[in-house]
Amino acid sequence: MDVRLNSATFLAANCSYQESSTVIIGCPLDITTTFRPGTRFAPGTVREVSWGLETYSLLQDRDLEDLKICDVGDLELPFGNTEGALETIQRYVAAVAADKKFPVLIGGEHLLTLGVVKELSRQYADVVVVQIDAHADLRETYLGEHLSHATVMRRIADVVGEGSICQLGVRSATRDEIRYAKQIGSLCEVEEVVNRVEGRPVYVTVDLDVLDPAVAPGVSTPEPGGLTFDELISMLTRLQGLGVIGCDVVELSPTYDPTQQSAIAAAKVIRELILQFGRKKGIE
Ligand code: MN
Ligand code: MN
Repeated sequence: MDVRLNSATFLAANCSYQESSTVIIGCPLDITTTFRPGTRFAPGTVREVSWGLETYSLLQDRDLEDLKICDVGDLELPFGNTEGALETIQRYVAAVAADKKFPVLIGGEHLLTLGVVKELSRQYADVVVVQIDAHADLRETYLGEHLSHATVMRRIADVVGEGSICQLGVRSATRDEIRYAKQIGSLCEVEEVVNRVEGRPVYVTVDLDVLDPAVAPGVSTPEPGGLTFDELISMLTRLQGLGVIGCDVVELSPTYDPTQQSAIAAAKVIRELILQFGRKKGIE
């Protein structure tokens, strides 16, 4: 009899680290969240509700049970120390990526993506970041800070290069952000992304607020309008075949949604991402 309590891990993540090829990392970063804090509670909530889903995806005809997945728990981040937290994230991702495992991060606020991409762009040449988000996150500074969930894509552009970010689903930005986005050509349609990034290592970051708040109200910065759940999944499906080296789902703030539908949506997005891009043991 298996006496483990399932809710301590993400759905079907029952492998040891050594055996695993996909590694789920809880990243409760919640320092620069401007509007509705609480993203630190997201990884635990997502794990808990994930067990309400099936391990099998009808859409993909794939099953999490066929993959070797380890959920390593949550990173211990030095709260109040943004740079220290990013370094902790980077150090952990360094180890996972060096072990040739596929990292899947459950946020946490969006700034965590900077720590991940910094490391992956050290280990892989020519990384491109595909961001799916209601917001451009391209400010140079926010409230005087260079490191913020509102500046994260600008900092990532500093790391991977301005031509190496693709933004999907953006519906909220400042005039300056849009001017900058047009200058660097980051705002894309999904078909363009596929053409632009084919053959390159791709990191996919999904900010849950890209969904209509009617679908996922429990996010730190809800923005009216947006994608249905099926539209988001079909966007991800069209990225099939790209060389994805890691992914994250960020900005869930579960306290704002007592129905938990937002956390369940996040869990299902993570399931689909793992099934689509996660590695089977022995497959690079
Ligand atoms: Mn964002
Ligand atoms: Mn956002």
